[in-house]
Amino acid sequence: MAAKRYDVLTIFPGMFEAVFAAGVVGRAAEGGLVEIHAHDLRDFTHDRHRQVDDAPFGGGAGMVLKPEPIFEAVEKVRRDNPGPVILMEPWGEPLTQTLATELAAEPGLVIVCGRYEGVDDRVRLGLQAREVSIGDYVLSGAELPAMVLIDAVARLVPGVVGDPGSLDQDSFTADFGGYPQFTRPAEFRGMTVPEVLLSGDHRRIREWRRAAARRRAGTLERK
Ligand code: SAH
Repeated sequence: MAAKRYDVLTIFPGMFEAVFAAGVVGRAAEGGLVEIHAHDLRDFTHDRHRQVDDAPFGGGAGMVLKPEPIFEAVEKVRRDNPGPVILMEPWGEPLTQTLATELAAEPGLVIVCGRYEGVDDRVRLGLQAREVSIGDYVLSGAELPAMVLIDAVARLVPGVVGDPGSLDQDSFTADFGGYPQFTRPAEFRGMTVPEVLLSGDHRRIREWRRAAARRRAGTLERK
């Protein structure tokens, strides 16, 4: 299968290096299962100051990201990435495990990162961008949201998480995901591991985990 491709358009491409060098997603990138490319929007400007932002029409505080560098960058990455354009925005569609699963089936994603007061709305209109939010709070830019989205999506790409069983037992996916976990030692500072987990009785363990997960998170959205 061709590698899934995640192209990010940002004024801070350096922010992505450390995050995607680490962990299962970093290993998947090294192994060629996914490709993550952060592109500097300033490389798509044509003026001496490499200007990516300008004052808002109609007045108001701050600056707005201009449409031209974003369109040029999307048109360039389009040649290698047929995936949908995603615009991270606080008012967008909430990122859920269901949405991550849907986006993981795409051949890739082209993710536009807002900064300042936001992005010229013609980016959304002209590029038919799907707006996605990582939660009801405002961050200073979309780089962290883009990392959250890529991590949630890329770990669902077949082969990225070494043992696919660990995806099946995730919160939001399994009806008993998110149960309490324990490892050695069996007793630590007077706290003991529930006896059933040491019993080797897999049916009882499964029942215990299902009940414990229900108690822990009665409000989790289940797929
Ligand atoms: N003035 C805007 C906030 C701009 S924050 C407002 O009132 O909503 C700058 C950029 O950060 C946004 O354009 C968006 O790309 C990103 N961002 C901030 N919070 C976000 C969130 N919760 N989810 C996704 N992106 C977010």
